[in-house]
Amino acid sequence: MPWFAETLHRGVRQTLAVRRPIATVTTDFQRMQILETEAYGRALVLDGVVQTTERDEHIYHEMMTHVPLFAHPAPRRVLIIGGGDGGIAREVLRHRTVEAVTMVEIDPGVIDACQRHLPRICGGAFDDPRLRVIVDDGAKFVRTTADRFDVAIVDSPDPIGPATVLFAMDFYRNLSRVLRRPGLMVRQAGSLFLQPDESVEAARRLRRAFAIVAPYVAAIPTYIGGLFGFLLASETVQPLRATPAALETRYRRARLACQYYTPAIHRACFALPASVRARLAPV
Ligand code: SAM
Repeated sequence: MPWFAETLHRGVRQTLAVRRPIATVTTDFQRMQILETEAYGRALVLDGVVQTTERDEHIYHEMMTHVPLFAHPAPRRVLIIGGGDGGIAREVLRHRTVEAVTMVEIDPGVIDACQRHLPRICGGAFDDPRLRVIVDDGAKFVRTTADRFDVAIVDSPDPIGPATVLFAMDFYRNLSRVLRRPGLMVRQAGSLFLQPDESVEAARRLRRAFAIVAPYVAAIPTYIGGLFGFLLASETVQPLRATPAALETRYRRARLACQYYTPAIHRACFALPASVRARLAPV
C-alpha cells in the first residue's frame, strides 16, 4: 500500500497509508489531493499539508465554530474566510439562530472537489439558502466589504502560498473593522509544540488589533504535535463571560449534540499549560 508523507514540520514527518488516491488537481492556487487513507478515511491535502480528514474533522470544525458562536451573546451574521471544504459552514449552519453566512474562499476548485469527494464533511452546507459563497481573496474582501458581521472564522491553511496574507496585520485590522460590536473572530494558530512561532506571532499581531485575545486548545490527531492552538479575539467579548448554567441552557436549546464540543469543554479549553499561557497570553 502506498504512503503519503506530510512534510509541514522541520524534522518531523506524518505518513498515512493510502488505499487509493481519489483526486489530484493543480488549481490556479495550489496542488490539491484527496486521498482515501487507511487510518483517517478521506483526507484533503493542499500543497502537501493535511487540511482535514473524515475521521477527526469534527474536533477542529466544532471547536472553531461553537466556541465563538456560544461566546457571542447573539450571533446572526457569520463570516468564514477560507473553509472551502465546507466543514465550518456545516457547523455554523446548525445554529438555527444564525441568519446569514458569508464564505470567502479563494479557490473554487477546493469547493468543487470537496462537494464531489468529501460530502461527509460539507454535508448539505452548500445547499443551505443562508450561505453565500464569494470566490475571492479573504484579505481583499475584508479590506473592501461594506458588510458587517457578528463572528468571523478564519479557516485558513498555514501561512503558505495564498494563505500568507491571512496572517498579516492589515488583515486583522480590517477584520476588526468589519465586526459589529459585540463581535469576535477566531483563527487556527497551528501546533503549539511544532509551530510555536506561528501562534506567538499571530497572538502578538491580534493583540495590536483587538483588546481581548484569548487562546484555547484542543488535540486533533492529524494536526500532529500535541495541543493545537486557536486564537479568539474581540474588542469587548470575554469568551468565558457566560456562566456555566447559561452556557448549558444555550447549548441545550441549540440541540446540537456535538461529538466533541460541550459547555464543559468550552470552559476547559481556555485553561492553558503554563508555558503556553506565558507565550500566548502574557499578563
Ligand atoms: N482546517 C484547515 C487548517 O486548519 O489548515 C484549513 C482548511 S480549508 C480547506 C483552508 C482553505 O483556505 C482552502 O480551501 C484554501 O483554498 C483557502 N484559502 C487559502 N488562502 C486564502 C485566501 N487568501 N482567501 C480565502 N481563502 C483562502
